[in-house]
Amino acid sequence: MRRAVCPGSFDPVTLGHLDIVERASKIYDEVTVAVLINKKKSSLFTVEERMALLADVTAVYGNVKVDSFHGLLVDYCQAHGIPVIVKGLRAISDFDYELQMAQMNHGLAGVETMFMTTNPLYSFLSSSLVKEVATYGGDVSKLVPERVLTSLAERLAAP
Ligand code: ADP
Repeated sequence: MRRAVCPGSFDPVTLGHLDIVERASKIYDEVTVAVLINKKKSSLFTVEERMALLADVTAVYGNVKVDSFHGLLVDYCQAHGIPVIVKGLRAISDFDYELQMAQMNHGLAGVETMFMTTNPLYSFLSSSLVKEVATYGGDVSKLVPERVLTSLAERLAAP
C-alpha cells in the first residue's frame, strides 16, 4: 500500500489544501491529512474542530484519513509506515522553507517530500488570509468549502 501524508495547521482547511489532498489521493492508495498540534500558536478552530471539518470535506475521496500529531512529523511517519510527505508549493516564497524542511526530514529519517505546484486559482490562498478577510466581512465563498464557510461565519459572529 502506497501511503502519503499531507501535514499542516488547516485553521481552517481551504480549497487550496483540498486541491492538493484530492490530487494526492489519486496518486497514493491512502492519504492521511495530519493536523499539527501546536499549543504555542493561537488558532481560530480547535484541533478537534479542524479535524471534523477536514473529515467532512475529504469524505468524498474514499481513501483519505484525518489524524493529528505533535512533535516531529518524521516520527509520525515512521510510526504509521508513511514514507512520503506531500506538500503544495504556492510561490517561490514557499520554496526556501520547504526545501530546508524536506532536506531535514530526509536527513532525519529518509522520509521523502513530494511537491505539487498549486492550482493557479489558489496560489495566493492561505488560511491566515482567509481568516483575515472573513474577519472584516470579505467574501471568501470561492476560497473555502461550503461547510467551512458556515463554521467561519458562526465562529466570527460569536461574542
Ligand atoms: P497555511 O496557513 O499557509 O494555509 P497550512 O499549514 O495549513 O498553512 O498548510 C499546510 C500545507 O498545505 C502547506 O505547507 C502547503 O503545502 C499546503 N497549502 C496551503 N495552502 C495552499 C494552497 N493555496 N495551494 C497549495 N497548497 C497549499
